[in-house]
Amino acid sequence: MTKIDPHFADELKKYGAKDFDACFNCGNCTAICTLTEKSTNFPRMMLRLGMLGLKKDILASREPWLCYACGDCSETCPRQAGPGQYMAAIRRYAISAYEPTGLTKLMFKSNPIFVFVTLLIAVFLGFFLFTLKPEYEVSRWIFAYLPYAVIHNMGLVIFGFTGLSMIWGALSMILNLNRNKDKKEKSDVSFFKALSLVISELTTLKRYQNCDTEEDSFWKEKPWYVKPWLVHWAIMWGFIGLLVATSLDFILKDPVTTIWWPSRILGSIAGLFMVYGTSLAINYRWKKVTKAYSETSAADWTFLWFLWIAGITGFWLEASVAFGADNIATQFIFLVHTVISMELVLLFAFSKFAHALYRTLALFFHFRNQG
Ligand code: SF4
Ligand code: SF4
Repeated sequence: MTKIDPHFADELKKYGAKDFDACFNCGNCTAICTLTEKSTNFPRMMLRLGMLGLKKDILASREPWLCYACGDCSETCPRQAGPGQYMAAIRRYAISAYEPTGLTKLMFKSNPIFVFVTLLIAVFLGFFLFTLKPEYEVSRWIFAYLPYAVIHNMGLVIFGFTGLSMIWGALSMILNLNRNKDKKEKSDVSFFKALSLVISELTTLKRYQNCDTEEDSFWKEKPWYVKPWLVHWAIMWGFIGLLVATSLDFILKDPVTTIWWPSRILGSIAGLFMVYGTSLAINYRWKKVTKAYSETSAADWTFLWFLWIAGITGFWLEASVAFGADNIATQFIFLVHTVISMELVLLFAFSKFAHALYRTLALFFHFRNQG
């Protein structure tokens, strides 16, 4: 039986969907969106579901994740209903609904709670980090009050908990998508073909590129290297590259003596991508160049600044290795770099970051059912 929640529209506003109930269902946004296809009908249909309080239908839809937040629909909405912002809000709502702890819900709805949790985790990770560097003077001082094993094991438990939350979130999304599966929808595209289409999309962001080609797009005349799809691409692949480089460092036990170690070269290139992408994204949001960049939540700012600081401090550490500088400033930068990087990983399931997982899944099911 379909359940309607009359308070759902108010609930969505807490996630950033401001005036979406001003929508009078004209369909202009769906017509303007280059990503809607014969099998999809967003953002208009998603707005209708929100207004009618059909939250289960939203959670059971892959359409929120097929939108790349270009904002073209918001620029042209005759009612200023902000359909692009609405799509971002229902993604936030879905992230908090799929993960099991309720932590994301609290953090997305309240900026003070978000800041408190982020700082608390940063302090804890700082302590955890010293368990990896027990020879530091500060570490000896901390362990005199809090045993090494307690901090270290608690850190491992928390990282394990994040991993389990991610798996739970992914399973929850898959179950929801299957619940809503249209009986007429056929999986005509094979598993491997759909997988190759997902890889191709993540490699090129071809669908996102289409957003910038419309006549009335602010970005149409701008050079390719400043377009939002390239910014998104640089941040995404920059982060993935850094994750791979860090994992290789860890597995290969990099002696930290040269910047020409293969994993270091990969890390430097990936770091350049990430700093470039995040610098542009921060600049666009700061200047509010379009509607899509004009409303930035505390969580969005934190996410971008964390990525930017992780990239910049990474280069500082590279330079320290190159010039053999091992002083208190470098140790402090090391602490900041590692705490922020670990926090990004730790918050994966509980932040905007989770869209990387959910969009990938949604794209897979979308391609699989295209036939
Ligand atoms: S969000 Fe705006 S453009 Fe879209 S259907 Fe509603 S009124 Fe029309
Ligand atoms: S923000 Fe862009 S991709 Fe998303 S629904 Fe609007 S026009 Fe489509």
